[in-house]
Amino acid sequence: MHKGPLVPNSTKTVLTAVFPGSFDPITNGHLDIIQRGARLFARVIVAVGQNPGKEEVFTSAERVAMIADLIRDFPNVSVESYQGLTIDFVRQAGGDMILRGIRDTLDVRDELQAANTNLIVGGIETVFLMASDQYTLTSSTFIKQIVAMGGDASTRLSALVPTTVLAKLRAKLAS
Ligand code: ADP
Repeated sequence: MHKGPLVPNSTKTVLTAVFPGSFDPITNGHLDIIQRGARLFARVIVAVGQNPGKEEVFTSAERVAMIADLIRDFPNVSVESYQGLTIDFVRQAGGDMILRGIRDTLDVRDELQAANTNLIVGGIETVFLMASDQYTLTSSTFIKQIVAMGGDASTRLSALVPTTVLAKLRAKLAS
């Protein structure tokens, strides 16, 4: 517990954040967190994992390739895939913390549970960035549903998903 007056911390630390998720596929909401994270941390490693609770559309290699293409211009951002526990990957990759995005109160509940578990079991802290206004309702799941149903709405998705990703999603769901 913090006691006494707050002392400004003048020593800047150089930290690596690991941003884990399923990214199936990556959306502009994820990219926003990556971009903002890249300004705050020395390095950001986007970690593509498996979520047993979600059926996957893209393979892990496909997701990594799409992300690699989109982060080309960010020298301090890289992407890797991993299997198993996120805390093990963070340690093995030399990460200092987990970075996650929060969209709404539903996310808060789930994330609180995961962050506490990762802290108690793995000794790894999680830091959060709140989703930017325009992406608070963007989710890979809904984007997949809209593309799968086709129709006019899917052409307007380019506000929420990179166009390269949208094209790959259309091709995948059409086949
Ligand atoms: P997971 O299955 O591990 O939740 P996701 O790919 O769905 O993986 O999400 C990865 C991370 O990105 C999570 O922290 C999630 O809250 C965050 N995220 C997802 N969509 C958005 C968005 N639109 N804006 C900000 N953060 C987001």
